[in-house]
Amino acid sequence: MKIGIVGTGFVGGACANAIMTLGLARELVLVDRTQSRAIAEAEDIMHATPFAHTTDVRAGTYNDLTDAKIILITAGANQREGETRLDLVEKNTKIMIDIVPQIMKYAPSDVILIVISNPLDVMVQVVTTLSGLPSNRVIGTGTILDSARFKILLSKQLSLSPQSIHAFVLGEHGDSEVLNWESVRISCLSLDDYCKQVKIPFNSSMKRSIEYRVKNAAYTIISGKGATWYGIGAAAADLVKCIVNDEKRILTTSIVTRKFIPKPVAFSLPRIIGQNGVIDTVMPELSASELRTLKISAITIRKHFDSVS
Ligand code: NAD
Repeated sequence: MKIGIVGTGFVGGACANAIMTLGLARELVLVDRTQSRAIAEAEDIMHATPFAHTTDVRAGTYNDLTDAKIILITAGANQREGETRLDLVEKNTKIMIDIVPQIMKYAPSDVILIVISNPLDVMVQVVTTLSGLPSNRVIGTGTILDSARFKILLSKQLSLSPQSIHAFVLGEHGDSEVLNWESVRISCLSLDDYCKQVKIPFNSSMKRSIEYRVKNAAYTIISGKGATWYGIGAAAADLVKCIVNDEKRILTTSIVTRKFIPKPVAFSLPRIIGQNGVIDTVMPELSASELRTLKISAITIRKHFDSVS
């Protein structure tokens, strides 16, 4: 399978490397406004292929994307220290207006676009509009990474493998995101029941600390090393794997959704993913306050989409 990546900075490079390492593509085409960057990134990753999977990793242009089944969009400005993701809305909308028509000029009509650039959910709606593709084929990595952060922190608190934990972050991939405590499951038990059975204390201050650390994870990493890339690279490759292998796994991804607030808006909910993109959406159990904050999150995203549309 041929997979394209448009934007080969920190995030595009990490996505390409993770996709190669998992052996998900025969051909990986890297496109960037700065061709020298795409060439360098492709060379570097190509040199790792003998240690992982045979993959033809190369720099290309938009017309090399003619038969790409999946194209990741990772172009765009990233957050500087002190900036929120939503602060990037104008700059990155302009970049989407530049790249999406060029992608659609060459990509097959049944391509799946994976949006990673921030502000993620607004960019999903911008790309859906610009591409004319059905909403199930324009998928934002959304809160897959935030849900992973949630699971990791719970797993540390409970001294338990994250594989036994189901925990979802919903809404915006950003400051208004909602940690869905109501639907957390530790194997077959609710969080409270699990903690009672194994006699682990879990109080509201531990909950608040996990909330804070999930919501501020990117800010913490950015203040230490300027940007984040490994986590999102792995999350994006996992989404690609789900599509390539038609796995029908549930991942918290962002697509344009109707009927949640009065206007269409892109935000993350648990969604079943297969070879044609999003197959269906699952509405999780939500407390009254989670439902209220999820609506606020959706309205916040839509307000920012309206500001650029
Ligand atoms: P970066 O600056 O390292 O790379 C961006 C790349 O985009 C550069 O190589 C640049 O040349 C390219 N580019 C810019 N405009 C272009 C255009 N018009 N056409 C083609 N290429 C273009 O930034 P990064 O750290 O890789 O971040 C990229 C994006 O990913 C940012 O918007 C960032 O906020 C986002 N991000 C998302 C997540 C997530 O969880 N969804 C996580 C981290 C970063």
